[in-house]
Amino acid sequence: MLPYQTLLEAEAALGRNLTAAEILWFRYSASMPDYLLYYHNIAFLFLIFTLAPLPIAAVELFCPSAIQAFKIQPKVRLPISSFINCYKNVVFVFFIAVGPLQLVSYPTVKFVGIRTGLPLPSVWEMVAQLVVYFLLEDYGNYWIHRALHSKWGYEKIHHVHHVFTAPIGFAAPYAHWAEVLLLGIPSFVGPALVPGHMITFWLWFALRQIEAIETHSGYDFPFSPTKIVPFYGGAEYHDYHHNVGGQSQSNFASIFIYCDYLYGTDKGYNYQKAQLTKLREQWISDKQSTKGKLK
Ligand SMILES: [Zn+2]
Ligand SMILES: [Zn+2]
Repeated sequence: MLPYQTLLEAEAALGRNLTAAEILWFRYSASMPDYLLYYHNIAFLFLIFTLAPLPIAAVELFCPSAIQAFKIQPKVRLPISSFINCYKNVVFVFFIAVGPLQLVSYPTVKFVGIRTGLPLPSVWEMVAQLVVYFLLEDYGNYWIHRALHSKWGYEKIHHVHHVFTAPIGFAAPYAHWAEVLLLGIPSFVGPALVPGHMITFWLWFALRQIEAIETHSGYDFPFSPTKIVPFYGGAEYHDYHHNVGGQSQSNFASIFIYCDYLYGTDKGYNYQKAQLTKLREQWISDKQSTKGKLK
């Protein structure tokens, strides 16, 4: 809730005219309690999870040839029932874990100083904070994920996420409720250490979720905008982790590749990549020599 009754009051307090975005924010949030603004995040998370994986899932189910060239595990084709069951399971965990976690975490959000008022942050302030959030999340997530690959962690909790050896977008949050709660911690660390505006907070959770959905999409699109992000892992990188399964001691990082590089957990992936490149080169040279003999 904003401490101003009118736009004029807000402008007087700021000592300048409000920007168009600030006028919109004022009209939307001026009389809305802060906890309600925070709870928007629950609706955003649910909508993004439901809508973001839909386009690729629809094309994969009804017109697979259109994107077959980009499929990371081309031989795997899941039936529509797998998509529906995955969605239903994630929605169930959403209602028993994600939603309640968001509901009870409001006092923490208030305590760390996520603000809802004016002025709105500049684009650069938001970008800088989001970069910090992504780096902190990636680091925390790496170590939690790695711990979940211990014998106990995998058997009791993490095996659920690995049910999909060829992941789909809907499987990004497909996990044991305990894993969902645990991995929620690094998502809150960034906003807690570098608190920003509620809009940055919403944007952070939205982008993080879209990133996880892309990483689990099962497709490696060369025209994806994430290709320009330095040290970004992406779908092919995380797909390897799912493909190897529980035995995987490679590619624990969820966003970037630097943790796996620093801690030496990208060896299996690099080895497999080198082997595939060798096989491909061998196949091309065999094909060329067969052509030469036939001439
Ligand atoms: Zn794993
Ligand atoms: Zn995964």
